[in-house]
Amino acid sequence: MVRTRFAPSPTGFMHIGNLRTALFAYLLTRNQGGKFILRIEDTDQERFVEGAIDVIYNTLRDAGMHWDEGPDIGGDYGPYIQSERRGIYKKYAQELVENGGAYLCFCDKERLDNVRAICEASKKPPMYDGLCRGLSESEIKEKIDKGIPYVIRQKMPRTGTTSFDDAVFGRITVENAALDDQILLKSDGLPTYNFANVVDDHLMGITHIIRGNEYLSSAPKYNLLYTAFGWEIPEYIHVSPVMRNSHKKLSKRDGDASYQDFIKKGYLKEAIINYIALLGWSPAEEREKFTLDELIQRFNVENISKSPAIFDENKLAWLNGEYIRAMSLDEFYGHAAVWISQAVKNTDYNPRLIASVLQPRCERLSDIPAQIDFFDTLPDYPIELFSHKKMKTTPQTSKPILEKILNILETISDFNQTSLHDSLLSLVSELELKNGQVLFPLRVALSGKEFTPGGGVELAAILGKDESINRIKIAINKLCNGI
Ligand code: GLU
Repeated sequence: MVRTRFAPSPTGFMHIGNLRTALFAYLLTRNQGGKFILRIEDTDQERFVEGAIDVIYNTLRDAGMHWDEGPDIGGDYGPYIQSERRGIYKKYAQELVENGGAYLCFCDKERLDNVRAICEASKKPPMYDGLCRGLSESEIKEKIDKGIPYVIRQKMPRTGTTSFDDAVFGRITVENAALDDQILLKSDGLPTYNFANVVDDHLMGITHIIRGNEYLSSAPKYNLLYTAFGWEIPEYIHVSPVMRNSHKKLSKRDGDASYQDFIKKGYLKEAIINYIALLGWSPAEEREKFTLDELIQRFNVENISKSPAIFDENKLAWLNGEYIRAMSLDEFYGHAAVWISQAVKNTDYNPRLIASVLQPRCERLSDIPAQIDFFDTLPDYPIELFSHKKMKTTPQTSKPILEKILNILETISDFNQTSLHDSLLSLVSELELKNGQVLFPLRVALSGKEFTPGGGVELAAILGKDESINRIKIAINKLCNGI
C-alpha cells in the first residue's frame, strides 16, 4: 500500500512550492489508492509561528486535499506532531549510539565556531572535525557526570561512497568523506529535521517521499541512517523548485509566494490547484484544464520534470479565466458579488446584470472593481477617446451619431437590452455603417473608457434610461466644446 506524507514546518504561510509538493504527494496517493498523511514538523521551535498549523489545515482543506491521518484526526501511527514525539527520537538516537552509528559530542559553541572558521579559511565546506568520535567510555561518563551538555551526531563512514536512486534525478552517488557528522539530537533532547524525518518516515510506514530537491544532497545521509537501523529505504521523489523566472524564486516579499496571496488576488482555488499541478509535471495530453479528479487519474511520477518550473502568473490568469467562463452565471455571481459591491454602491444598477457582462471578460476577480469603476461616477475623459482607428471613429464622426442615439433612446419606452439592441442595430443599417462606428462612441459616452466589460448596449441597459441619456448629453456637450 502506498503511503505518502506531507510534512510542513509551521512557519506561518503556505508557500506555493510547498503546496505543489503536497499536491504531488496527494495525487500520487489517490492515484494508487494509498494513504496521505499529514505530519507537522515543529522541532525547530525558533521558526514556529502561532496559528501556522491552522493555516496548513485550512489551505489543504480549502484546496480539497484531504488527509487520511494527521494531528487533528489521529491514525495508527501518531502522534503526528513532532514535538509530541520527543521520547521516540531519544530512544532511537540512543540505539544508534549503542550500535556504533552515532556518538555523543560535547564540543561547545566556541570550539565549533573555531572549527567552522578553520574550514572557511581553507575554503572547505563547514564540517565537524570529529573530535568526539574518539572519546573513550570513561571520558564520556566523566563529561556526563559533570553535566556537560551534549548532542548526538551521526558517525559517517570516512571512506567509500553512498548511492541511491531518485525517481526524478536518477542515481546519485556521493563520497562519504564529504558527509558531515550531522547532529541528530540537540542538547535540548529535540531531534533535528535530519533525524526526525527518517525516524518518522520509517515508523509511519511511508513508502514514497516526495519533497523539494533542496533535500537531495542530504538523502545519502538519511540512507546511512536507514541502513544503520536495518530499515527499508523508501522511494525518493525529489522535485525541483518553483521559480518566478530563471534566476529568482517566488518570494514572500513580492507577495506572490503563498496560496493565500493568490486567493486574495482573486484566483479560484480550482484554477490554482490545476495550475500548480502543471508546474513540473505534464500530463500526456495536450490539454491544460483539469479538475482535481482528472489530475488524480492522470498523475504519474515518470512525467515529473527535473527542470525548475517557472510560475507564470499570466498563464494562471488565463486558466482562471477559463474556469470563470465555464461557470453558470449564478456560480460566477456567487464569486463576483463581493468584488462588484466594492466598486458599485448605487443600488439602481443590478449587480447580476453587471456580473453577466463581466463573466466573459474577467480573468481575476480582483480586477473587477477597476473594470467597473465608471458605474457610480462617470470619470472625466478627453474627447480624443472617441478616436479609434479600428472602429473608424473620430470625435467628428461620433458627435452626430450620439445625437441620433440620443433621439432613439428618448423614444424607447421599454428600456432593456433587447429593445436597445434592436433599435441601435436598425440605426447601424439605416446609416450603412459598421456596428463599431455606432456602438463604440456609445460605450465611450457611457463609461468614459475605451475598454469596458460589455459594449454600449449592455452598459446602457444596466445604467437605465435616465442615466444613459444624461451621459450621452455630457458627451455631446464635450464634443460641441472640443471640436
Ligand atoms: N519540514 C520540511 C519542510 O517543510 C519537510 C521536508 C520533507 O518533506 O521531508 O521543508
